[in-house]
Amino acid sequence: MIDLHTHSTASDGTLAPEAVVDLAAAQKLTALALTDHDTLAGLPPAIARGKKHSLEVVPGVELGIQWDGGGQMHLLGYLFRADDAGLVERLGWLRDRRRERAQRIIEKLKAAGVEISFERVEAAAGGESIGRPHVARALMEAGVVSSIGEAFGRFLSSGRPGYEDKDELTPEQAIQLIRAAGGVAVLAHPGTLKLKAGGLQRCVEELKSYGLAGLEAIWSSHSPEQVRDLQALAEKLGLITTGGSDFHGENKPDIQLGTGRRGNVQVPDSVLTSLRQRAQA
Ligand code: AMP
Ligand code: FE
Ligand code: FE
Ligand code: ZN
Repeated sequence: MIDLHTHSTASDGTLAPEAVVDLAAAQKLTALALTDHDTLAGLPPAIARGKKHSLEVVPGVELGIQWDGGGQMHLLGYLFRADDAGLVERLGWLRDRRRERAQRIIEKLKAAGVEISFERVEAAAGGESIGRPHVARALMEAGVVSSIGEAFGRFLSSGRPGYEDKDELTPEQAIQLIRAAGGVAVLAHPGTLKLKAGGLQRCVEELKSYGLAGLEAIWSSHSPEQVRDLQALAEKLGLITTGGSDFHGENKPDIQLGTGRRGNVQVPDSVLTSLRQRAQA
C-alpha cells in the first residue's frame, strides 16, 4: 500500500519530513508522496530518509486553484523534476503571496479585537509555506481558542472575520506548470468541489482538456459512495484513480497517515505505476 497525499512542517503538517517518512515505514508502506502546499522544501530530507528505509518518496506538491464554481479546488502534482526553474520560481511567488496574506489576516483579526503578532505566526509556520493553520496555532497559543478547528470555525474559514482570499493559479496554469516540469497533475479530493454529478463531470472534462491525469477518489473525508462514484467517473473519462490520506499530524488529529480517517484509505502500489507511465508518456 502507498499514501500519495501527506503534509510536513515544510507547509502545514506538524511532523518534520523525516518523521512523516519514518511513520510511513513503520506502517510498512512501499511508497509515500509528500505533497506540501506550495513548497518542495521537504522533499530532499524526505527522500534521503526514504533511502534508509528502502521506501520510495515520490516528489509531490499541492496547489490551491482559482475557482468560483463552488467549493474548493486543489491540485496535486507528482513526479516532476524538483529543480525545474519554472516550477521553483512560481512556488516562490505563491509563498511570497502567502506571507502578505498572513499579514492581512492579522490586520483583520486586530480589527475584530484579536491581537497576534506576525512573528508568532511565522514561528508557528517554522518552514516555508505560511497558511491559515499557522494563524490558527498562534491563536491557540495566545489562548484565544482551544483548538485548530475552533480557530477556523470562529475566525479563519470563508465568511469569518479573519478570512482572506489567497492568490492562486488558474486550473490551466497549474496543470501546465506541473506538466512542463515533467510531472502529472491530479485533482485533489474532488468531494470538496461541492458539485453535483453532471457539474463535476463537466468540470473534470475541462481539466482533462488541460492535461489532467487523475482523480483522487480515495481520500479521508470522502464517503464510500463518493469514492465509488469518483472511481466510476475516472474510469469513464480515462483518468487514473489515485488516493491519499491528507495527513497533517496534529493539525488534523483524526487523520492517520496511510489509512486515513477511519482506515478508509487503501491505495495499491499499482496507482504509482500508472502515474509514472503517464508522466513518461
Ligand atoms: P490555506 O492554504 O492557508 O488557505 O489553509 C488551508 C489549510 O487549512 C488546508 O490545507 C487545511 O490543512 C487547513 N484547514 C482548512 N480548514 C480547516 C479546518 N476547519 N480545520 C482544520 N484545518 C483546516
Ligand atoms: Fe493543509
Ligand atoms: Fe487539499
Ligand atoms: Zn492536502
